[in-house]
Amino acid sequence: MENFQEQLKNRRTFAIISHPDAGKTTLTEQLLLHGGVIREAGTVKGRGSNKLASSDWMAIEQQRGISVTSSVLQFDYEGKRINILDTPGHEDFSEDTYRTLMAVDSVVMVIDAAKGIEPQTKKLFEIVSQRGIPVFTFFNKIDRDARPALDLVDELETVLGIQAYPMNWPVGSGQVLQGIYDLRADQLVPFKNATTHSEIVDEAMDEIELLRDAGNPFDEDKIAHGQLTQVFFGSALVNFGVTEFLREYLTYAPAPAAMTTVDDKTINPEDAQFSGFVFKIQANMDPRHRDRIAFVRIVSGEFNRGMDVLLQRNGKKLKLSNVTQFMAEERENVQTAVPGDIIGVYDTGNFQIGDTIYSGKKSIQFPDLPTFTPELFNRVVAKDVMKQKSYHKGIEQLVQEGTIQLYKSWNGGDYIIGAVGQLQFEVFQFRMENEYNVEIQFEPIGSKVARWIKPEQLDEKMSSSRNLLVKDRYDEPVFLFENKFALNWFHDKYPDVELEEKM
Ligand code: GDP
Repeated sequence: MENFQEQLKNRRTFAIISHPDAGKTTLTEQLLLHGGVIREAGTVKGRGSNKLASSDWMAIEQQRGISVTSSVLQFDYEGKRINILDTPGHEDFSEDTYRTLMAVDSVVMVIDAAKGIEPQTKKLFEIVSQRGIPVFTFFNKIDRDARPALDLVDELETVLGIQAYPMNWPVGSGQVLQGIYDLRADQLVPFKNATTHSEIVDEAMDEIELLRDAGNPFDEDKIAHGQLTQVFFGSALVNFGVTEFLREYLTYAPAPAAMTTVDDKTINPEDAQFSGFVFKIQANMDPRHRDRIAFVRIVSGEFNRGMDVLLQRNGKKLKLSNVTQFMAEERENVQTAVPGDIIGVYDTGNFQIGDTIYSGKKSIQFPDLPTFTPELFNRVVAKDVMKQKSYHKGIEQLVQEGTIQLYKSWNGGDYIIGAVGQLQFEVFQFRMENEYNVEIQFEPIGSKVARWIKPEQLDEKMSSSRNLLVKDRYDEPVFLFENKFALNWFHDKYPDVELEEKM
């Protein structure tokens, strides 16, 4: 058994961001093959899964066994232990995905080489780039006709604003794929059974020369801060370029990082004191046990099963005895874990998203996870008035889990729920029915621009049909503006009132 220091040095914790269909699942599957976790490709994603089922927690109910949608996958490769965190990839955003990106040390960005950067990749990249963590780019599907590699690389800079540093370069694509040229070893990695097209090799060599003359210099510091992305080409489907990618990734991707607390103290992974934060709460992963699991990213110290920790928010003492870690095939009961690892703590309602837990005397509080300004709103009511109790309980728990955001009308008890993506409403409705046995009805109030107002500046008369006054779950006042025009109109009318937006 490696000692603690070595273990944490060898951890690599990352998420894959991509637009749906770019190949995230296929690449994950190849990585699991490399880790010896699965033996055959083609077992990862349930075929014909519907839109809702592809959201992580529901897919688990439907499909036991291996699933990349099981939130966290862990495997070993060449002396490194790799934790991949799932970021459910829908056209639609969920806040879950954003929050998961707060728990990783680096990100792999998978882009379809025939399509280039697509909208969801861009949105997720923007979240990641605010954290300044390393981003590795994998242009996938070069076994199909791809766009010119120079254009693809150029897009990284023009669309995402990140400098690119190609580690290898495609020589042809599709039918005439010759291989990838390893720019550092200065040699071609040939594609199996390729028939030689020398004009394509010449063309690629010209491009490579251009890159060497005019490309960005290699800069480890920029890589570490997410200002320069190492670029790889390959095909996840035919497992070409994946090994090369994984090797380099493991060389350059960072080990678990230190974190800063709200009072500006640095918590180093090597610190003896155990600490971590909850970035996700997931209910009912196993339909036979109506359990909730709080996902904790370990920041410092060693986790030992049965240890006592304090929940920073309320000082409550908790014993971490029922804790799982996530291997690809099953959830295992975990004995020890180190920084960079994700543990799943069975939760009976103690945890909230963003909570810090720690052992020992010195109090630790990590910053809140970002909350996102919802853009879509629905008034919600229970169809059956007799079910008020489960209705309130369901809403309370799902809000705690961060499934949706809750608001109330200012002068009444009406519930208004907000989300950043439509899918969140569907998930909410499904879960209210299936877990709390309450049918709910939405009265859409459409998309709104939400802005927080300081309580001392609030005058209820400011509210009108174009800016609905509500309170958030902490009873803070919020205006839901009909649109940007209504917001501008408000600014003109009340120039001294400051309105605040979340992330
Ligand atoms: P995800 O939505 O990003 O998880 O994408 P998937 O991994 O499910 O892939 C979407 C589709 O693209 C599937 O039909 C895959 O078989 C296909 N695909 C993935 N990688 C490749 C690749 O490298 N080459 C080709 N030709 N198809 C691929």
